Amino acid sequence: MGKDFVLAMDQGTTSSRSIVFDAAGAIRASVSQEYEQIYPQPGWVEHNPEAIWDSQIATARAAITQAGLSARDIAAIGITNQRETTVVWDRASGRPVFNAIVWQCRRTSDYCAQLKEKGLEPEVRQRTGLVLDAYFSGTKLRWILDHVDGARALAEKGGLCFGTVDSWLLHKLCGVHATDYSNASRTLLFNIHTLDWDDTLLEALDIPRTMLPEVKPSSFIYGITKVFGPEIPVAALCGDQQSALFGQAAFAPGECKNTYGTGCFLLMNTGERPIESRHGLLTTVAWGLDEKVEYALEGSVFIGGAVIQWLRDEMRLIDSATQSESVAAEVEDNGGVYVVPAFVGLGAPHWNMSARGTITGLTRGSGRAHIVRAALESISFQSADVIRCMEAELDSRIPVLKVDGGAARNNLLMQHQADVLGAPVLRGQTTETTALGAAFLSGLAVGMWKEKNELRQIWRQEREFVPQWNESRRDIAVSGWRKAINRTIA
Ligand code: ADP
Repeated sequence: MGKDFVLAMDQGTTSSRSIVFDAAGAIRASVSQEYEQIYPQPGWVEHNPEAIWDSQIATARAAITQAGLSARDIAAIGITNQRETTVVWDRASGRPVFNAIVWQCRRTSDYCAQLKEKGLEPEVRQRTGLVLDAYFSGTKLRWILDHVDGARALAEKGGLCFGTVDSWLLHKLCGVHATDYSNASRTLLFNIHTLDWDDTLLEALDIPRTMLPEVKPSSFIYGITKVFGPEIPVAALCGDQQSALFGQAAFAPGECKNTYGTGCFLLMNTGERPIESRHGLLTTVAWGLDEKVEYALEGSVFIGGAVIQWLRDEMRLIDSATQSESVAAEVEDNGGVYVVPAFVGLGAPHWNMSARGTITGLTRGSGRAHIVRAALESISFQSADVIRCMEAELDSRIPVLKVDGGAARNNLLMQHQADVLGAPVLRGQTTETTALGAAFLSGLAVGMWKEKNELRQIWRQEREFVPQWNESRRDIAVSGWRKAINRTIA
C-alpha cells in the first residue's frame, strides 16, 4: 500500500508546528509548541537554533502519534518557515556559532543606512527585488561574521555554513546544506533574475560564497531523514508567505492571498515574470516547481490584527478580538469615523515612517461601536491600498482575493474587504494554508499528487463574501479613507 500522508513542519516566529495531512488535504493531527524569544537589548531579537530544532522535532513526533500513524506512513516531509531569520553553524561540528538573528531584529539598521549612503540600494532593488533593510538576512549574516570570534577566518576557509531556518532544519534532518528559491530570495544576496547568489552583493557585504547553501526548487527531494527511524524524504522547502500562496492554490498570474495576522501579508502571483515595483512593493520568488521559477509581488500592512489587540489592551473597548465583530455590528456603518493605525508609520503605498495614528470624523454621536468598526475597517482599507498597488503594477484588476490568518475569521471584516475591493473574498476550509502549501509541495515531489490541477480540486471554499456596494458607495467610503490618510500624513 502506498503512503498516504505528508508531514508539514511549519517553523514560525513564536512557535513550531507540525501538521499531518492526508491525500485529500485534510488535517489528521496538528501539534504546536512555543519556544523562547530572546531579547538581548531593545530592538534586538534572537532564537536559540537548538530550541527551534527541539520544538520542531518534538511537535513532529507528537503529530505522527496523534494522527494514529507511525513514521512508516509518512510519504514526505515539507518544511515552511519564518523567513529571513539567519543561522550560522560550524560545518564540521554542525553546531551554531551564534543564536539565530530573527527577521524582526533591528541591530543592522545603521549598517543598512551606511550601505544606502554608498549608493547600494538601486543595485539591491534590481538584483534581489528587495529593499535595503535590516529585515533581510544579508546584513545579519555580515554581523555574525564581524562579531563572533574567529568566525570570519573560519568562514574564509569554508568552515562555516549559513542558512535560513529551512536550511537549518534540513541540516538537522539529513545533513544537507541547501535552501529553496523562495527562501534564497529573502536573503539580500540572491539574484532573482540569474537565480544564483549575486557576486556584486556578496562582495559589497563581504560574504564568502562558500558559506551559502545550494539553491534548489521548492518541491524537490533534498535528502532522506532517518531521525524518525524509517527513511522519509524531505521533499519541500518554502518560505511561509509563499507557502501560504501555494496552499491557497493561487497558481496562476493575478491570483493573490492576504494573511490577516498581527500584520497583513499580501502576495500576488505574477507567473514567470519578476515585476519590478514602482510603488515600493517587493518582488520575490514564489516557488521553484516543474523546472521553472515563478514570482510574486509582496506587500504588507504593519498593523493589521494588532489594531484589534490595541482596542482590547490599551483602549479597553472590547474584551476579546472575537468580540470586535459583534460590537462593530451594533452600528450600520462607521458613521464617518476612520481609524488610521499608523502606530509605526505607514507602508505601501504611502511609505511614511514618521506618520502616527489618527481617529478622524468624530461627532457627538460617535460611540464605541463606531470606533471598533472603524478599527476593523482600517485593516481592509489598508489591505485594499496594497492590492490597488499590485493591480497598478500588473495593469489588471484581481478577480478574487483568498484569505487566511486569525482575523480572517471575522465575517464583518471580510464582507467589508469584499465591499471595498469590489471583488469577492474567498475563505478556504483549511485555515492552515502555510502548512498546506508545504504539504502540497512535498506531496508533488514524491508523486502523492501528480500536478497542481489536482490540488485545485483539494482547495475547498468555506465561504464567499460577495461585494454588496455599488460604485458610488465604494467611492464615498474610499474617499473618506483617503481624507483620513491625508490628515495622518499632514
Ligand atoms: P499571528 O500569526 O500574526 O500571531 P494570527 O493569525 O494568530 O496572527 O492572528 C492573530 C491576530 O488576529 C491578532 O492580532 C488578533 O487581534 C487578530 N484577530 C483574531 N481574531 C480576530 C477576530 N475575530 N476579529 C478581528 N481580529 C482578530
